[in-house]
Amino acid sequence: MTVLDVVAAENKTIVKPLEGKVAIVTGGSRGIGAAIARELADKGAHVAINYQSRSDAADEVIKDIEENEGSAIAVKADVSNSQDIADLIEEVKNKYGKIDILVNNAGITRDRTFRRLSEEEWNEVINVNLNSVYNTTSAVINHMLEQKSGRVINISSIIGQAGGFGQTNYAAAKAGMIGFTKSLALETARNGITVNAVCPGFIGTEMVQAMPEDVLSKVVAKVPMQRLGTPEEIAEAVVFLAQADYITGQTINVNGGLYM
Ligand code: NAD
Repeated sequence: MTVLDVVAAENKTIVKPLEGKVAIVTGGSRGIGAAIARELADKGAHVAINYQSRSDAADEVIKDIEENEGSAIAVKADVSNSQDIADLIEEVKNKYGKIDILVNNAGITRDRTFRRLSEEEWNEVINVNLNSVYNTTSAVINHMLEQKSGRVINISSIIGQAGGFGQTNYAAAKAGMIGFTKSLALETARNGITVNAVCPGFIGTEMVQAMPEDVLSKVVAKVPMQRLGTPEEIAEAVVFLAQADYITGQTINVNGGLYM
C-alpha cells in the first residue's frame, strides 16, 4: 500500500448502517432504553430520547452520544398520555422531518399477587406498558405508511411469554405487546414497515435490582447462562432489527436461555 493509499483510506468516510435515520426511544433516559439510544446513535441514527421526569438523566445520555459524535435530543412525555405523545411525535417530525424507527421501551412494574392487586395497579401497568404502545404507534404509523418504510420495535418481556408470580398486570401487558406486534406486522408488511418484539429475560437494570436479593439470586441460578443480561445485549438485538428488511412479526428472545 502506498502512502497515498493510506491517506485515502484514513480520509474515507465511514458509512454507518443507520446514517440519516431518525429514531424515537421511549423511556430512553436510563436502563435498557438508554443503552438502545446509545447503540442506535452509534450506528448513525438521530435519536429522540423520551423521558418522563429525569431530564438530567436524559441529558447525561445525550452528552455521551455527542461525545461519541452522535446526534440526539431529549423529549419529555408521559407515554400513557396520548396528547403528550402526539406532541412528542410532532416535535420529532418538525426537528428531523421524518421518523424511521420507533422503539417502545418505557415500562413499569407494580408487582402484587392477583388477590391483592388493586384496580389502580392493574390500570397503571396496562396504561404505561401497553396503552402507550397504542399511543406512540398510532401517532406515527400514517407517517411510516406514507414514506413506505418504518421499523416498530416493541420491548416486551419473558414474563409476557412464561408468566411471572405476582405479575398478572405486567404479563398481560407484555403478552399484549406480542399480539399487537404480530397483528400490526401483518397489516403493514406490504408497505415496507416491519414490526417486531424483543423479549428480554432478566437484565441488570433498576427494574430488576429492585427485586429482593434472595429472589434475584434464585432467578439467576435458573438462567442457563448463570448471569443477568446487560442492557447493551438488548440494544444489539434492537439495532439488528432496525436494519433487517425481511424480518417481521417476530419475537427475539434475549434471555440467556431461560425461556426457549
Ligand atoms: P427501568 O425502570 O430502568 O427503565 C424504564 C424506563 O421507562 C425509565 O426511563 C422510565 O422513566 C421510563 N418510564 C416509565 N414510565 C414512563 C412513562 N409513563 N412515560 C415515559 N417514560 C416512562 O427499566 P428497564 O429495565 O430499563 O426496562 C426497559 C423496558 O424493558 C421495560 O419496558 C421493561 O418492562 C422491559 N424489560 C426489562 C427487563 C429487565 O430485566 N430489566 C426484562 C424484560 C423486559
